[in-house]
Amino acid sequence: MEIFWEDCYSNLEGLFLAEESDVTNAIGRDCYLGEIAGKHSEVEGEIETGDITLVSDDADVIEKLRPFLPIGIDPLERVRYECFACGERLMAYEFDNLEEPICDYCKRK
Ligand SMILES: [Zn+2]
Repeated sequence: MEIFWEDCYSNLEGLFLAEESDVTNAIGRDCYLGEIAGKHSEVEGEIETGDITLVSDDADVIEKLRPFLPIGIDPLERVRYECFACGERLMAYEFDNLEEPICDYCKRK
């Protein structure tokens, strides 16, 4: 299932595609957006219930919008996960498998 969520995080907005389970998994986690609000802004905070809302799960709507997404930020790419092996905290996109996050460094060992 794919879903559109709208995020009103720190007055930042984004329309993005996500699996419902990934959104559920991201609630309560630290999200790091870096200098998205300007140089040295270092936007960071916890994703809370209500920050992310479902816009549409209509398959036709998703197919039409897919080429244009994400619009604005995709906070799920920026959620920090802890490596199971070394405890290093890294961005979601740096892990292949979020169910069992192992960083590249530990994988190569
Ligand atoms: Zn590691």
